Amino acid sequence: MYDIIIAGAGPAGLSAAIYGVRAGKKILLLEANVYGGQIMSASDVENYPGILRITGYELAENLCRQAKDLGAELKYEKVLGIREKEGVKCVQTSRSEYDCRSVILATGTRNRRLQVEREEELTGSGISYCAVCDGAFYRGKDTAVVGGGNTALEDAVFLSEYCRTVYLIHRRAKFRGEESLAEVLRAKENIQFILESQVVCLNGTSHLQSILIKDNHTGGTRELFVSALFIAVGQEPDNRAFSNLVALDEHGYIRAAEDCLTSAKGVFTAGDCRTKQVRQLTTAAADGAAAALAACSYLNKLTAAPA
Ligand code: NAP
Repeated sequence: MYDIIIAGAGPAGLSAAIYGVRAGKKILLLEANVYGGQIMSASDVENYPGILRITGYELAENLCRQAKDLGAELKYEKVLGIREKEGVKCVQTSRSEYDCRSVILATGTRNRRLQVEREEELTGSGISYCAVCDGAFYRGKDTAVVGGGNTALEDAVFLSEYCRTVYLIHRRAKFRGEESLAEVLRAKENIQFILESQVVCLNGTSHLQSILIKDNHTGGTRELFVSALFIAVGQEPDNRAFSNLVALDEHGYIRAAEDCLTSAKGVFTAGDCRTKQVRQLTTAAADGAAAALAACSYLNKLTAAPA
């Protein structure tokens, strides 16, 4: 029997684990993929207060080591659902079932799909959602990035160090990402902006060979020969497994405020998977602390309550 089971070992889940074990609770972290979540694919992190510069990988590793060294248990299993069984929460995973008294949902978000034909089929064969993971495979090649947020801009900066040409395709004239990053890109000779345009077709037999770009104003199309397309069009939550347990908003985010309380007793949430204005590393870590302390207070009241 665990005190707290945390679904998701990203910055929110790991921060919750650190606070939970330090409060003397028995913690199990369940992670479907790799610990660290989105920061694993960040080349450099420069906006975490107190740390001047660190790679995403190193920060994720530090967070995970800290949680485990303090005593949190980590298992690589996807949470498929949670049900109540005589006052105990039973967490079903891809491999097993675990009982606990409280749960923290910290499942983050996943990469939004561009929704062009053959996207799924060519993923891993020229289509990628992680420039830091796959960029080095395309050294000296022509590649493209689609999106206009910070991720797309950072991906383009990163790829420009390896690739011959990087096309940055965005559906609007202005980027949503930070102007300072756009400035860096404008100064690079091997970056070409293709604005107010969309990717409408992916071509290639077993590997991506070219993409078709449509100009939003003229409707005209042109073929761009690239070895890879890095898709960076934002994130979306994947909380379907919990839809019968907690209230979700119309976009699928878990409804919760700063206190990280969900609509279900003993179920808390932290990080990007919940309704919030700012989804950043710092706010995920802050949520982890808030959710863990809320769970501890819930558990302490349970123990104090007369039988
Ligand atoms: P984002 O800020 O939501 O940007 C997504 C981009 O994709 C937008 O430009 C959007 O276009 C475009 N887009 C969405 N759907 C599209 C579609 N179907 N076809 C073409 N384009 C599409 O996502 P993000 O860049 O992943 O960033 C997520 C959050 O993490 C943001 O808050 C961001 O600031 C933060 N972040 C921060 C850092 C950092 O601080 N260093 C680094 C990375 C990410 P529109 O502009 O037209 O909507």
